[in-house]
Formats: sequence, C-alpha cells, structure tokens
Amino acid sequence: MECDPTRVCELLVGLPAVCVLGVVDEHDAPIVVHVETRDARPWCASCAGGVVIKDRPSVELVDLPCFGRPARLMWRKRRWACRNASCTIGSWTEDVPAIAASRLVMTDRAGRWVTEQVGRHGRTVNEVALELGCDWHTVNDTVIAYGTALIDDDVDRIGAPTALGLDETLFVRVGPRRHQSWSTSIVDVRGGRLLDVVPGRSSVEPCRWLAARSDEWRARIAWATLDLSGPYRSVFDTMLPDAVQVADPFHVVKLANQKLDECRRRVQNETLGHRGRKNDPLYRSRRLLTRADERLDNNGRTKLLGLLAAGDPRGEVRMAWHAKEVVRSIYDHHDPHLAYEFVERLGADLQDETSPIEVRSLGRTLRRWRDQIAAWHRGHVSNGPTEAANNLIKRVKRIAFGFTRFRNYRIRVLLYAGKPNWDLLATITPR
Ligand SMILES: [Zn+2]
Repeated sequence: MECDPTRVCELLVGLPAVCVLGVVDEHDAPIVVHVETRDARPWCASCAGGVVIKDRPSVELVDLPCFGRPARLMWRKRRWACRNASCTIGSWTEDVPAIAASRLVMTDRAGRWVTEQVGRHGRTVNEVALELGCDWHTVNDTVIAYGTALIDDDVDRIGAPTALGLDETLFVRVGPRRHQSWSTSIVDVRGGRLLDVVPGRSSVEPCRWLAARSDEWRARIAWATLDLSGPYRSVFDTMLPDAVQVADPFHVVKLANQKLDECRRRVQNETLGHRGRKNDPLYRSRRLLTRADERLDNNGRTKLLGLLAAGDPRGEVRMAWHAKEVVRSIYDHHDPHLAYEFVERLGADLQDETSPIEVRSLGRTLRRWRDQIAAWHRGHVSNGPTEAANNLIKRVKRIAFGFTRFRNYRIRVLLYAGKPNWDLLATITPR
C-alpha cells in the first residue's frame, strides 16, 4: 500500500479544508499541528474585484487531545486586501467556522466536546482544562458560547407545560462577606424539567419571563406551585390569574418545623437564660422534635416526653410539636373539600390565645394560604420536581467555584439540569 505522509497526516487531522504544513512534537509540550486553509481565493465583498493576501497571522487553537496528549492547531490565517485602490473595504481575515468560531481560542470540534463534558456529564471546568492543557477561562468561555446557543436558540426546549413551579435557590456567595444572592427556578413540575433560572427572588424577573411567553402558552398553565412566599403569589396572581395556586407541601411542613424550632429556642432562653447547651433538655430534644412522628420508636418517644417534662414547664414546646404533627396530617386527607375545612379550622385553632406566639403565627399563615394549601388535594402537583432541580443546581454549584456572573451560572445550570436537546449540539452555532 502506498502511503503519502502528508495525506495521512491530513486524514488524521480530519479537517477537510486544510493543508497540514507540519507537526511539531516537543517533549512535555502539546503536540502542535500547523495548518492553512486551501479554500479558493474569494472576491471582494464590496467591489467584487480581485483580492491579494496581505499577510498570514497565526492563531493558536486548543484542540482535542491527540494520542492521549494535549494538542494545538496552529492556523495560519490569510488576511485579504482588495486590489482595487479606490475600494474602501480595507483588509479582512478569513473565517472558517468549521475550524473555529472567530471569537474563540478553541477549535470547533473541541468546543462541542468540552460543552458536553462540562454541561452534560457535569465534569469540572478545571478537570477538562487539565486534560486539554489549557486554562480555566478558555474552557469556560467555550462552554458558555456553545451552551448559550444550545439553550437559547432551541425554541422547542421550553415546551408546553401545564403545571409551573417557582422556587428560590441560593445562587452564589461571592466576595469577602460571602454575599448571598438568590435566584428563582422556573420549573415544569409535571415534566420535572427546569425551564429557566432568573435573578433574584422578587416578582420582577419571573413576571418578565412569563410576559415573554405567548398568551397561548400561559393559558395552558392550569397549576402553579409555590412556597409560602408573597412575591411568587403575586407573580401568579398577575401573570397566570386562571391557574390554580398550590402551596408546596414540603414548604408547609417546613414552616411548621421552623415555628417549632423558634418556640423551643425561646422557651430555652426564658427558662435557663442562655442559648442551648449540650446537656440542656430542650437542646437535646431538638432532633426528636422535628422527626416525623411515625419515625419515632417507643424509646424515642419516651425520651422526648421526658426531655419536654424537664425543660418545657408551660408545655409550649409540646404544643408547637403537636401543631407540627397536625400540619403534617393535612396531607393524610383525600377529600379536597374536607381538606379545606380542616386547614381552615386548624388555622383558627392554632391562633387560640392559649397558644405560644410561634403557633399563633403558624395559624395565621395557614389561614392566609388555606386555598393554596388545600388546592394540593385537587392537583397533587408539588414542588417535588422543583426540589430535584434545586439539588442538581447545588451539584453544579459545588463543581464550579464562585459563579460571579449570573449569565454563566444560568447556562451551566440549564445545561446540566434543564434537559437541553443534546442532539442539536452538532449543528448549533456558538454565540
Ligand atoms: Zn474591493
């Protein structure tokens, strides 16, 4: 078999439009493949006259690893100038997107590969950068460029959900004060898909996002789930007035547990004059109190009652504990109508003047949200899938230190948890 070394090399490099000028292989350095394009000479875009090569600047592109080693493509780009002296076009550099997008310092094929490694498989930018022998920013910029196209240029990605959830997520802590920034996840709660994340946890950005959808799209949303937050309620009141609002059970029970905790800490302080210490009975009871009743065995229950007898002289913590268990029992109901009556009566009972203040506050919240709480019994939609999406978001945050820019955070999260159509990766144009 005859073997033309240049031809073999070009086959290995695998880019149809280039000639290989040479390969430099030095110890402890990436393999460098020098190439130039062999496209025909263009015509001037302005006057349609002939052009000349002005010079050939080289650009170094990070490429896919080659034979297990980092590789670079050194592309001698042709810079053209118009021959016609009166033409105003100036000079321009050739652009071959099949080799690399003009703004990026990575080859197109490596760009698609890193996007999948980081975005889909959740590998860290650091790890991938190490494999390619390049810096963190090169990989990150490339993932964001391809990822933005995959997320935002795919008009079908958002689909046509019938149940929408809003949920707050801590987005990043940056700076010396570890500032808390919040974001809002917008989730298709039936399909379990993260549709988008927007900055903040006020009503502004979710409203803007919903306003950007069509009337038809919004009209299809029959259920809207939320935590017990006023801003999200106002988003739904304004933008999805016909959707039935459902308070997420997880957050309702969480609130009851929070109130129980507040009550325990207050009574602790009032009876012993200091915050909980290792041997204080109420401090020792804290985990038993928030545990679900059916998960307390006899020993646990006996121990808890003993600790309360010792540390809760007016029985306030005990009342808050019972209140929490009764709130949990809301979800044992099957009949939506009875559930509504139960929540309404419970809200009133808890506000009794003999109740500790934390329990009264819980009662007021239940009254205020009784429609949304009882609506769960009709729709059985919950933020469960939203919580799942949030867990994925947390994973993305763990593997990426300090997202300082919301835009990057959003793309990384949506690549990982937003179920983009990865089939499109081969055909998208990076932004
Ligand atoms: Zn010209």
